[in-house]
This record gives sequence, C-alpha cells and structure tokens, in this order.
Amino acid sequence: MDSTSVRGVRIASFLLLVFISAAGTLAASDETAPARDPKQAVDEAYTAKIQKYTTAPYFTSPLVNYLPASKTVPTPETVLGDVAGAPGVLPYAEDVYKYMRLLEKASPRVKVFSIGTTEEGREMIAVAISSPENLKNLEENRARLTKLADPRTIKLDDAEADKLVAQAVPVYYITGTIHSPETGAPTALMELAYRLSVDESPYIREIRDGMITLITPVVEVDGRDRMVDIYKWHLAHPKDFYPPLIYWGKYVAHDNNRDAMGVTLKLTENVLNTYVKWKAQVLHDLHESVPYLYDNTVGDGPYNAWVDPILTDEWQMIGSRNVADMTKFGMPGVFTHGDFDTWSPGYLMFIAAMHNGISRLYETFGNGGADTQERTLDPEEYARTWWRQNPPLPKVLWSQRDNNNYEQTGLLTSLHYFNENKRLFLKNFYLKAKRSVAKPSAEGPAAYVLPADESRPSLQAELLHVLQKQAVEISRAKAGFTVALPVKKEKPKKDGKDKKDTKEAEKDKKPEPTSRDFPAGSYIVRMDQPYARIADALLDHQYWSPDDPQKTPYDDTGWTFGELFGVQVARVTDLKVLDVAMERVTEIHAPGGVKGDGAVFAINNAAEPALATLRYKLKDANVEAAEEPFESGGKKFNRGSFIIRNANRADLDRAATEVGLQAVAVGAAPSVKTHAIRAARVAFVHTWLSTQTEGWWRLALDDLKIPYDYISTQAIAKIDDLNAKYDVILFPPVGFFSSPTAIINGMPTAWGNPLPWKNTPETPNLAGKNDSTDDMRPGLGWDGFAKLQTFVQKGGVLLTATDTSRFATEIGLVTGVSAQTSERMKIVGSVVGTRLVDGASPIAYGYEEKVPAYCDNGPIFSLSSISGARGRRRLGNESRSRPTGRGTADEPDFTVGRPGVEAPEEPTSETWEAPPVTDEQRRNGFRVIPPADRARVIFRYADQKDLLISGLVAGGNEIAQHPAVVDVPSGKGHVVLFSINPVYRGETRGTYSMVLNTILNFDSLDAGRKLAEK
Ligand SMILES: [Zn+2]
Repeated sequence: MDSTSVRGVRIASFLLLVFISAAGTLAASDETAPARDPKQAVDEAYTAKIQKYTTAPYFTSPLVNYLPASKTVPTPETVLGDVAGAPGVLPYAEDVYKYMRLLEKASPRVKVFSIGTTEEGREMIAVAISSPENLKNLEENRARLTKLADPRTIKLDDAEADKLVAQAVPVYYITGTIHSPETGAPTALMELAYRLSVDESPYIREIRDGMITLITPVVEVDGRDRMVDIYKWHLAHPKDFYPPLIYWGKYVAHDNNRDAMGVTLKLTENVLNTYVKWKAQVLHDLHESVPYLYDNTVGDGPYNAWVDPILTDEWQMIGSRNVADMTKFGMPGVFTHGDFDTWSPGYLMFIAAMHNGISRLYETFGNGGADTQERTLDPEEYARTWWRQNPPLPKVLWSQRDNNNYEQTGLLTSLHYFNENKRLFLKNFYLKAKRSVAKPSAEGPAAYVLPADESRPSLQAELLHVLQKQAVEISRAKAGFTVALPVKKEKPKKDGKDKKDTKEAEKDKKPEPTSRDFPAGSYIVRMDQPYARIADALLDHQYWSPDDPQKTPYDDTGWTFGELFGVQVARVTDLKVLDVAMERVTEIHAPGGVKGDGAVFAINNAAEPALATLRYKLKDANVEAAEEPFESGGKKFNRGSFIIRNANRADLDRAATEVGLQAVAVGAAPSVKTHAIRAARVAFVHTWLSTQTEGWWRLALDDLKIPYDYISTQAIAKIDDLNAKYDVILFPPVGFFSSPTAIINGMPTAWGNPLPWKNTPETPNLAGKNDSTDDMRPGLGWDGFAKLQTFVQKGGVLLTATDTSRFATEIGLVTGVSAQTSERMKIVGSVVGTRLVDGASPIAYGYEEKVPAYCDNGPIFSLSSISGARGRRRLGNESRSRPTGRGTADEPDFTVGRPGVEAPEEPTSETWEAPPVTDEQRRNGFRVIPPADRARVIFRYADQKDLLISGLVAGGNEIAQHPAVVDVPSGKGHVVLFSINPVYRGETRGTYSMVLNTILNFDSLDAGRKLAEK
C-alpha cells in the first residue's frame, strides 16, 4: 500500500463523513421553508384585519398571518364584506359558491365542478386548484391515476406503476362543514382557495404545481343554510336564546357522518362519487369540537380490521408530521393521538380508507357561529399528556379567525408534506389497490356469494345496490357451482352449561358439510378487485372483545350487512370460486311481475319491505293476508302472504315488477283464514328535542313510498280525534334528551324566550319542508298524553322503539311491561340474535326462527301479569337447590313428628314470559291482568351464547331471552314496543318489515293469538 492510496482512503472517508453530516441537515433544509415570498406584495388592509381578529399571537402561523395581494383575483372580502373568519360573518353555501366561481373566472388555476344536489335540491360543488397546466391535463392525469387505482389494467406490473407514479399528479380532497353547527370550514376553505391560487411563495407554489387540491367547501348544504339562518337570527336578537339546530339535513343531523356504509344520503353519495371519479389519494374532512386541533388521523385503537396496514402507517406519518409542523410554529393544543378509534367505517372520511386512499379528520375548536367568545376548558382538555405536550390553555378568548388560522395552517402543512412525499403516497395508493386485488390468495376470502335461491330477492338486490354505490364490481354465475367449505375446528366444551344448552347443542350436532352448491344466477362479489376492501368490511362479521382496552367505543361496533338485511351472504375462501363462469352485471333488479293464470293473485310474504310499497301502490285493490301458510300451484306461501282479488293484472304486473316481487295467479283463493290488509293512515310523531334517530325512519319510509303525516308531539294535543285521522301512530326513537319527562315537558318554558322554528324572511331556510313551530320548547304535555291514551283505547295502534318504548312503559301507556336500563351490560351498536316467539302474530309475518337485529343496550323488557308489578329480571341461572336436611340432593327433607308433605309443583315460565299468576295473587286479584289484556311477545333476544352476531356484547346475560318485540293490547287498540331499533342508518332493512307488518295489519294484530287459561 503506498502513501497515495493511504491518503486516498483517508480522503474518501473524510468525504463520506462530510456527506453523512450534510445528509442529516439536508432532509430539513431540502424542504422549502414555510414563509411568504418577500417579493410579492401583501394585501395590507386584509392582513391588518386578520391580525385584529386573531386573539393571541400564538393562534396563527407564518402561513396565514398575511394575505398575498393580487391585482386580478378577488379576495374572500369581495363576497363576505370582511375577511375570512371575521366576527359576525357566516356565509350561506350560495355565497361560498359565488366566491369560488369568481375565483374560477379570475384565475386559470381554479376550476369549479358541480357534483350533485342534496335532498332539498341544493347544489354541491368541488373546487379544483392547481397549476393551469395540471388543470389542462386533468383527463390525461385521471387516466394515469385510474391505472394506479386499478392495477389489473397494467397487469400488476410494478415497473409500469413506477412510471405512472413518476408522472401522475396526486389529488388531495378536502371537505368542509358536514356538521352544520361546526361553522368555520367554509370561510377557511375560501381563503385557502385564494392562497393556493395567488400566493407565489415557493412553499405554496410547490403545492400548486405538484398536486391538485380539491375542495368541497360545504358538504351538508341544507344544514349549512339552516345554521346561517339561526346565526343571523341570533345577531338580530342578541339578547335572546336562539333555537338549537334541530334539523341539519332533511333527515339526519350528526349521523350524516355515519352514512359511509349504507350510503343513503345524497351528501355521502356525491362525495363518494367525486372521490372515486377523481381517484383521489386523500379525503380530509373538517370538523369542530375539541381545542384546538385534534388531527384524529392517528386516533386510538382498535383500528378497523379491514384497512391495509400501509394506510395505518400513513396515518402515523402524516399525523405526527402535522403535529410537529404546527408545534414548531408555536401553536398550542395540536395533537393526533386521542380517544377516536377507527373501528367503524361509517365516517365520511372513511370512504378513502375503504377505497385505497388515506382518510383524515380534523377537530378544531369552534364557537358554533362567528361570535368571538371567552371559552373555559375542562381540566382533561388542557392537561398535558404524553401525546399532547403543548396542551390548550385553560381559558381563552377564541374567535372564528383563530379557528380558520388553525384549519388553514394544518391543511397547508399537510398539503406541503404530502407533495414532498407524493411519489411515496402515489406508490402506496397503487400498492394498496394491488394488495386488494391479491386479497383472495393473500388473506382471503376469495369472494362473497349471494345465492340465486335467496328467499328475499328484493332485499338481496338492495344490498347489492349498496355495494354498487360503493363502486364494488358484482358478477353473476352463468352456471351452478360448488365450493369447498373451510373445516371448522371443534371447540372444547365448557362446563356448567344448563341442561337446555346441552340439549340444543346435541340437536345442532349434525356433521359439518364440506362443500356448498350455488345455483346458476348467484351473485359473486370477487375479492380480486381494487375496492374489495369495502365489500369485505361490510359483509364480514365484527368481533369487539369485552376485554378490549378501549372501553368507550366511538360508534357502533357491529354492522354485518348480510345479517342486518336478512339475506344470505356466503363468505367463500375456496379460490376455485374465481374460476366460475360469470359475467359482470351493472343493472340489478329483483325479478318481479305476475306469473301463471287465474283471477286471484298470491304474493309470498318473506318480510320484504317491498310488500308494503306494493300495498300502497295498489291503493284500491282488495288485499288480504293469509293467517296460515298454504300451498298453491306447487309453491309454498308463508303466513301473511298477500291474496289479491280485484286487481287489474296489467297494473299488478307493472307494480310488482317495479318493486321486485313475484305475484302468482291462482285459480282460486286458498282456503285459509284471512284478514284484510288496508292501506293504514299513518301519523309519524317527532319531538322538538331531537330528530336524528327518527330521521332514519323517515328516510326509510320515504324510500319505500309509504305515505304519512309528519307531526310533532305538540300537535297531538291539538288534534280533536286522533282516531278519525289515523290508524297507526309511529313514535320512533327520540335519541338525545329522551327521558319520559322530557318528552312530556319539552324544554324549559318557565324562563327564557320562545324558540321559533319556521320559515320567515329572517330565517328563509329554517324549516324547509319539514315541520315548523312558533316555539320549540313545549313537549307532548299531559293533554297530548291523554290524546295518545284515548287513541289507543279507541282502537289505534301506537308503535314505539327503544327510548319511546321506555316512555310508553314508564308513563303508563301500557300495563304489564317494564323497561329497565343496565349499568353493566355493554351492547354498543351491535348485531344480536333474536328468536321468533309467536309466529302467528302479523308482526312476525315472513320471518324465520332466527332474526338478526340491531341493538344498542336495550331497554331490557320484562313482563308481568300483575298490574303495577315490575317484571322479573333473570340474571343467569335460577335453579333452586333444596334446603339443608336429610337425604340426598333430590330427596325430600322430613319434619320430625309428622308425615312428610310434598310441596306443590312450582309453575315455571321462560324469561321472556310473565311468571304464571300464583294462587295467592289471585286472592282478591284485582291487580291480575286478564289474559286478553296481557302483553304478547313476538320476538325475544336469543340465549346468551347466541346473542352476539357482530360487535360487542358484554354482560349479555342481562338481556338474553328477554322480550325484543312486544305487542301490548290496551283497550281496543295496541301499543307495540321494540327493544331493538328496527330502522337504523339504512343498515337494518331485514327488520323494517316488523314495523311495516304492524302498519299493514293494524286492525288485525290479534290474529292467531292464543290466550293463557287464567
Ligand atoms: Zn363534527
């Protein structure tokens, strides 16, 4: 080795050292600093107002503490009359759109797209901001993204994907104000759009040139306009209390952000379509609640089981970086870990998580309007924790501008970080799609099959429609096929089961089948497709362990769509299913119409909601329900099947085709007992306390075209004769503030001012076509209660569910049923098993022995035949053992000195039944409810071991076997009580017919009833 080479080595290692240390700082200095361009003029007047409305120097950042000036592009002030986030300024959606379209006119960097309308007909938009070149090449870029989104188009070729990744411009989709009282996003997004199109600082220019920012500034447009009405009313009446925002959209309030599974609301459908059409990489939804910015992208466990771990890594990367960037700006109260779990895929942002993108959500701090207010926090909100090292302050003066500063700063740093790493994120976008396509062989299943011999074809079609809305591909088998079933492992039996359990287990013990046949025409949801993930998440079962460290699930824990729709869905792991001859289908419609010859038509009742639709469509037809099953023309008909006599065949054919029901013409009506099915006149009652939970019921009835009058509890007292107007009164769950006393009393009226909810020149959007009132505060009142009672006594049917059932039992509308709450039981929005108890009841028509249902902690019903007595609750086994004495365990004791006396056999009863009336109770038994007046249990909860179908069930023994649906006779009428919620979030269509059966059979609910002897 000569000296030169020695020196050479030394030089090389010296250079290496230099390189390493330079790389260490390069990572930071390589990224453009968040600072304005000193060469670009500032809009001094606008900037001065930004500073004026920001309440503390640390509530802003170098990204938003100024506004760049433009000679051609108008600032938000043009429309708002002040700067974004100014006190007292809250624009209607229309004004926000007006501004976005002014931007589009003034700048080649902005394009506005209409993305659909709301239930009330208002427009929704998406605003794209990028370089003129990117906007010019939108279609070319979309083609690239589409290939990455569907790797099958490039034969899963990574090299080809890399080329596309290098060329593609990513799309970052931001959505604002889905929650109407969370008011800050629209102005923040107006100003953000301005900055992105005007600012020449390198930091912003990189975002603009490197990616497409897509913005839907107002998601809940109907609710936004109501909220602005209320805010303006508040400004005009500053000393008064203002009405709480009881309606947001037409149907639901806060739950509009729980619709990303069922896709029943227009806003979900429009955002989903936009997200999928643009092949966006991120969906970032803006909310307001906790101080000051909770980027709940990281959140807490449990994470949804169906998301790709690549995504959960992206959450960590983006979330942590977001906190770091804002912390460096000195902005307090920014954090990303917190109590939000991502288990449920129902949130709007989760459209991205389930379609190979990145879901994100901000909670910033809002004042619910544009007033600047002093805000005091709870100790846990300002505590310094390991995940919130720079917590919010205990007490601050807070303005909408502060909120806008946080929203914009968070978004700009996010956009910049995303752009810096866009090749990584685009590659991940491709990889997630590729891994979806590889799902059948990677982790399975291979497919879900919905068999062609489904007994509820119209519900099957509805489930498939949901999947289609989710952009899932559906195929149909051209021939019958067989798949191998996975071998189930035997579980060791636990001791301590009672006799009944063992007996049932013995009965169920058939040899496990090893294969399953499916007929031609069966629907196949292949899992080797890019959007397999959402199909899997909706159709699979969920299990939330009672021992999970997360003790407060953020939302529902179970939702399995096949179970809740009451249709067969087979999870198939056998890869051979993918080789079955099949074709893609786009039009899915349940077969319907009239078959056969004859003047009488029969339609099977399989608990399909379409039956009710058909009844109302054929308003003048003579429709009857069979009270017993029958056979006709070789076809079996269930109890409750329709027998239609005087219908025009062509009319019936058209109507049955539309709703997807098969009518069979028969020579003569079957010789079974029948009763008339009349189109009941329905009143639908809501409170002024909360309307969301009933909103899901309204949505379902509207979809099914079941007519009803929508009236408030206040209106009940004002109707002279309820029976003259209505046959059935539906009183669906209230939700918040739903105690029985609150339903009677309403909101406090002893102080304060009236809270009007109506359309006036001052509040033109408030009521829309929903209900209105001069004062929201009064409730049902005792007059209204008396009216309801009289309605039932005179023969009306009142249907209640969950909290309104509790109301009916506690306030005394029914006798012999009590409803209790449990502190220990935890059934948090789960799918549970119910069992048919009385199949002869019309409420049960079309249902089988086992019916899955949605339950959220009860109430727990118990029956008693003694008026005023609380029903018995059975907690576990109650087998009584003999007292201490002589003999063996099953021998009698003796009494010394007299002959033994055999104790009378104790009458037994099931948990869902009322305990038998004893001889002692019958002595002067004025409290004994006569058999004809006793409650009739239609469905009960399953035994404890069968209770959990999907989700979380802890302490389920408290509700196991208790009644789930009860029909209580009262006078000449009935009160029907539900412990389950049969109509919920568009997900529970399998149990809709329990409600619809009640409506259709309103005057024959006693059909098939067997009375107790005494
Ligand atoms: Zn929110």
